[in-house]
Amino acid sequence: MAAKWQCKVCGYVYEGDLPPQRCPKCGMSGANFIKIAEAHEERLKHEEDLSQAEKKRLK
Ligand SMILES: [Zn+2]
Repeated sequence: MAAKWQCKVCGYVYEGDLPPQRCPKCGMSGANFIKIAEAHEERLKHEEDLSQAEKKRLK
């Protein structure tokens, strides 16, 4: 599964194993891209943990 990278300069999202050398939208270097797919998955897992904790508290 390809990772997702977001340009922190203009917000352009690129899909691929590695970030592009240059942002196709604003032309900034690939060093400005941050990986977003993993962060998103981690947040989903965290939300799941929170809802489980919530259920326990309600019992
Ligand atoms: Zn950009």
